[in-house]
Amino acid sequence: MTGLIERPGNGAVRIPAGRLLIDGDWHEAEGGRSLPVFDPATEEQIGAIAAASAADVERAVQAAHRRFESPAWQNMRPIDRGRLLERLALLVERDADELARLETLDNGKPLWVSRNIDMPFSIDALRYYGGWSSKLAGEYIALNPLVDDGATYRAYTERRPVGVVGGITPWNFPMGQAVQKIAPAIAFGCTIVLKPSEEASLTTLRLGELILEAGFPAGAVNIVTGLGPEAGQALVDHPLVRKIAFTGSTATGQRILAASARHMKRVSLELGGKSPTIILADADLDKAIPGAANAIFANSGQICTAGSRLLVEAPVYDAVTRGLAEIAGSMRLGSGFDTSTQLGPLISARQIARVSELVATGLAQGAEPLAGGTRLPGKGYFFPPTVLAGRGNDLAIAREEVFGPVVLATPITDSRQIAAMANDTVYGLGASIWTRDLNRAHLLASQIDCGTVWINTHNVLDPAMPFGGTKLSGIGREFGSEALHAYTEPRAVCMRLE
Ligand code: NAD
Repeated sequence: MTGLIERPGNGAVRIPAGRLLIDGDWHEAEGGRSLPVFDPATEEQIGAIAAASAADVERAVQAAHRRFESPAWQNMRPIDRGRLLERLALLVERDADELARLETLDNGKPLWVSRNIDMPFSIDALRYYGGWSSKLAGEYIALNPLVDDGATYRAYTERRPVGVVGGITPWNFPMGQAVQKIAPAIAFGCTIVLKPSEEASLTTLRLGELILEAGFPAGAVNIVTGLGPEAGQALVDHPLVRKIAFTGSTATGQRILAASARHMKRVSLELGGKSPTIILADADLDKAIPGAANAIFANSGQICTAGSRLLVEAPVYDAVTRGLAEIAGSMRLGSGFDTSTQLGPLISARQIARVSELVATGLAQGAEPLAGGTRLPGKGYFFPPTVLAGRGNDLAIAREEVFGPVVLATPITDSRQIAAMANDTVYGLGASIWTRDLNRAHLLASQIDCGTVWINTHNVLDPAMPFGGTKLSGIGREFGSEALHAYTEPRAVCMRLE
């Protein structure tokens, strides 16, 4: 393997060396162990990443801990931590095209998506958090002494970084997710050991190269690639890791939450979803139908907030499902490097097997196929945009997260039941409401139990807007001022003055 992979466009894609970033340098995994990396569009092996052991994770955590405790880090001016993030943003901007090509190769998503969404979002998030580093402030508090001893009591709070953060990320937006963990950790004064998904680690490794080039102090950011139950679990179990920032499946999130009890780790968990797209009868269907298609088919449905349950008021149900099935049938699947591709492959053999099985079960349980339904033949993990129709909410496909381009449409026959239908799920990540009646939209938004409600749009994320879920969709919020609470703890200082 040469480390250069030929794909159409601006030259070959360079595969970063599969090593671990520990204490400011690259290292092989213990015993030289590695995992193969596959291109999901061709199933061809394109490289290898290091498979970190618990001993490798131990070295990385010790490095992060040493750096966190060091006077140089503790005394670094907050604005200079922001400067590190800004420098990194400039380097990502400089290499955005190369990074986008690497993301498309590793994850499969269309190159126009990597270029226009993943990279700009990562750059924005670095800048956004870079700005936060110099905005940290506590509160002055007037106290209420119980005894009048002639003294005056005053208190203030300061926000202290939690310490070493363990960041664990999934494969659907690999670069964006890595930034989403690294940037707040550094902005708020923590250090971090990041474990990217074993399914898509390459842009995180390239980001590691840029982190060194940007001049981050050794140990501030460490990257350990490897398997979840091994490298990820070692991070979760390590007593010096004070917080786990996790994005991934609900099942893994639950394991992490249980394991975190031992050392009382702080956790933020961004987990799965089964988000409803709700189309009311008065919606502008020329926008709502493509909007619903985008809500579920973008990134081949591998978005935690994908609009996988389509709830449509009865008068427009047929028009909406027909229109959606037409869009699904016309979408072009293919290599992300083909400029006409709208949908790339799913990430892995395991993922396409899971999606296929859930759809087959849905059909067996009586869902009606309106478009798609079975894996495309040939190489690559291509699953077509799939629209199913089903009445009632008890089918497995209505309840389980598919994480693929599969939507189940259900008519709303009683408009008083919309919120109840939307909330009839164990998840609470997102929802969208499509209507011209903003009065109705806001009233409905207030009744939906989830982290984000979009009105006449779906899947809009912004580093300034808090993001996360209720119920089994997680704990805590990333982004916006909420992120401050996830990475810092208040310390109260109380004084007696006389
Ligand atoms: P996953 O839970 O299988 O893996 C996520 C990460 O956890 C990977 O890095 C994996 O190696 C690691 N991991 C696995 N087992 C572990 C363990 N025992 N201890 C520690 N780490 C472990 O999820 P996935 O399949 O990579 O991602 C898809 C899931 O992520 C979907 O459920 C999706 O909804 C969710 N997701 C949520 C958000 C959000 O912000 N809420 C965003 C993207 C994806």
